[in-house]
Amino acid sequence: MDTRVDRYSLVTSLENIVGKDAVFTRAADLLVYEYDGSVDGAVETAMPAAVALPTTAQQVADIVLLARRANLPVVARGAGTGLSGGAVPQQGGIIIGLTRMNRILEIDRDDRTALVEPGVINLELSEATIPHRFFFAPDPSSQKACTIGGNVAENSGGPHCLKYGVTSNHILGLEVVLPDGRIVWTGGRAAGISGYDLTGAMVGSEGMLGIVTKALVRLTPMPEATLVLLAPFADIDSASHATTRIISAGIVPAALEMMDNLTIQAVEPAYHAGYPMDAGAVLLIEIDGIADDVRGTGEEIATICAEAGATEVRSATSQAERDLLWKGRKMALGAMGRLAPNYYLHDTVVPRSKLPATLRRVDEISRDFDLPIANVFHAGDGNLHPLMLFDRRIAGSTERVLEASKEIITYCVEVGGALSGEHGIGTEKSGYMTMVYTADDLAAMAGLKNSFDPAGMFNPDKIFPKGYMCGEVRALRMQAMAQKLGIHAL
Ligand SMILES: Cc1cc2nc3c(=O)[nH]c(=O)nc-3n(C[C@H](O)[C@H](O)[C@H](O)COP(=O)(O)OP(=O)(O)OC[C@H]3O[C@@H](n4cnc5c(N)ncnc54)[C@H](O)[C@@H]3O)c2cc1C
Repeated sequence: MDTRVDRYSLVTSLENIVGKDAVFTRAADLLVYEYDGSVDGAVETAMPAAVALPTTAQQVADIVLLARRANLPVVARGAGTGLSGGAVPQQGGIIIGLTRMNRILEIDRDDRTALVEPGVINLELSEATIPHRFFFAPDPSSQKACTIGGNVAENSGGPHCLKYGVTSNHILGLEVVLPDGRIVWTGGRAAGISGYDLTGAMVGSEGMLGIVTKALVRLTPMPEATLVLLAPFADIDSASHATTRIISAGIVPAALEMMDNLTIQAVEPAYHAGYPMDAGAVLLIEIDGIADDVRGTGEEIATICAEAGATEVRSATSQAERDLLWKGRKMALGAMGRLAPNYYLHDTVVPRSKLPATLRRVDEISRDFDLPIANVFHAGDGNLHPLMLFDRRIAGSTERVLEASKEIITYCVEVGGALSGEHGIGTEKSGYMTMVYTADDLAAMAGLKNSFDPAGMFNPDKIFPKGYMCGEVRALRMQAMAQKLGIHAL
């Protein structure tokens, strides 16, 4: 910390900006800000020096300017449900908690947009727009808790993103506080972008380029009809073949989710969703659109599933039944406590055609490491969520889980996949970035970061592997170049 701003004056200045009841500095209060939803071991916990809860963009900007003077890093935080350590303040500093900026400022039916503050809870936005016959399409399974700001920063997905696209497809513009304290707008209501697409740069930037203080989001009209199908299969292989066949037939369901037997064992006794306990895997498929089309597509999907070995294809006949089928899926992670005290949920993506082989490899890894792995995931877009069950009190178990994770990630990358489909990189996967990006690729990304935040004060230590920031990147590029040219001493 800069000696010009000592601890006492930091606290007083923060209190002057946001008020006494919106600043936390006691260790007992800060403890909950050491974590997000990620697994201890995969992500190190870290305590901030202070937490401030602003209610306006100007207050956010004032805190950022104060942090600059004090030479302290700043970490934005929504609900803390992130699964890659994004909101954990690795270098301490000030956490700006956006949960009090939680107003829906405008719902514009004509333009089908909503203007919201970043702390609005994802599900609350959809609930507020349903009376207008709209919804906010990105629906992470954490949607009862996670915030729009967090969704923007992680470019979050969810079951319905198969048809409707992930968060980036639903953000039209952002009000952002930059690391130098300026408040700027990116994007806007009109279609088309003049100049650089700064909204595109902000979405998915994990709080490293700017702090979102308002979001102009696209609203999606409610479909005329919705059909939810449940298709149980004897094994996961047949279910994944059915998935690839549905997609290759040119059908785009609103959602296409898979749960394997281990997941069913956890979920069914907890929620009685109606998943057969003896199924090797179930597909939960939602189709929406015009009533006649939905019926026809439903029949087409049922035929494909039957041909791929589905033991039955059941359609939910009432809204209550539909909700129950979805409740089982959306609450699946919470039910895992029935099977083991701890789980580590992974998030990787593979090309859809590689799904059957990848699931077989996950099964092999489960046996090799003697580690139960449940699979509950967005099958339609190849976004896997292998969920490793363990008991961290048993010595060596966390290390075994991390080794198994590495095997899974390595395989997914080898078959042309990506490190993350929706949970982001954070600190959890920053070490893996060199598996998919060259030094030049990373230098290009670091260039963007440096142009927004040359001092590296917004959410440091995220996304980039160690040694890839600021001046370090130049050195690494020169090293890579030297290697290419066969020059060994730089
Ligand atoms: C049970 C469970 C299920 C989940 N299911 C899904 C799923 O289906 N799909 C999915 O994509 N994710 C899922 N997640 C992960 C998580 O919920 C999402 O990443 C979510 O978007 C995080 O939102 P948050 O408000 O909790 O953000 P936080 O965890 O608080 O922060 C996440 C990142 O966003 C940054 N950030 C937060 N607010 C702002 C802001 N206003 N401006 C700039 N940066 C900001 C933080 O610095 C951090 O880097 C799940 C998590 C859990 C625990």
